[in-house]
Amino acid sequence: MLGCKLALKEDNIDQRTIINIPGGQKTVTIGEGHCTIIAGPCAVESREAYLEIALIMKEMGVHILRGGAFKPRTSPYSFAGLGEKGLKILAEARELTGLPVVTEVLDIREMEKVCYYCDIIQIGSRNMQNFPLLKEAGRSGKPVILKRGFAATIEEWLFASEYILQAGNNQVILCERGIRTFESMMRNTVDIGAVALLKNLSHLPIIVDPSHATGKRELVKPVARAAVSAGADGLIIEVHQNPDKALSDGPQSLTPDLFADVARDIKKLAQLYNKEC
Ligand code: PEP
Ligand code: MN
Repeated sequence: MLGCKLALKEDNIDQRTIINIPGGQKTVTIGEGHCTIIAGPCAVESREAYLEIALIMKEMGVHILRGGAFKPRTSPYSFAGLGEKGLKILAEARELTGLPVVTEVLDIREMEKVCYYCDIIQIGSRNMQNFPLLKEAGRSGKPVILKRGFAATIEEWLFASEYILQAGNNQVILCERGIRTFESMMRNTVDIGAVALLKNLSHLPIIVDPSHATGKRELVKPVARAAVSAGADGLIIEVHQNPDKALSDGPQSLTPDLFADVARDIKKLAQLYNKEC
């Protein structure tokens, strides 16, 4: 059916790609048998605030820190991230916490810098079909979180992953973050079926972003639970000390207290499914 060559499992073989992330104090694993939690603010806003939230995340059992230094914003007048300064703060947070860090790369010209400071690179929804960027991510040799384009079919998403895999980089983590539909009460429509389908079709790990998927903090916990129950290998969640003051994505960001509750819940659920978390 699909013309993909590298992202799909071979017929009748339950092949699974397990990705080991070095960079932190201990190697973090993403893939079958694990439920990996990635969390942090949408964007790195300042050194003090980021280091503080990074320590809180570690305390709550997060495995990988997130934080955008280069932000893709709909309006050119919105906060677009701290750039290289943000990357340096991420690297400092890794030193402080011992946790690996992930950040989005927007531009092929920034790939080298992002790879220098961070442990995982993220290709955002808006860039899922930026083919030169995908090829460069493949050449980087770094683990890549490939978010689903907000208007991409599953087939288009798998073909996008194929551009990274073709370059000899098999460390691709798919991330369902919701797609645009006729529904307007949530930021996006989360495709839980895609998670279950891809666990069958592909050997690549798949995680879910319940924050961007819903745009509403009160929906993060139930959608996170649904994702793990559908077989997701992990979650990426936005957390901010003071969401009302966040420079991006405040309405979907959890406070540390709300996140602590979600993390406890997910860890229990992971145990039920015999997954390390
Ligand atoms: C993000 O994770 O910060 C982000 C911009 O997500 P997406 O690309 O899914 O919109
Ligand atoms: Mn965001």
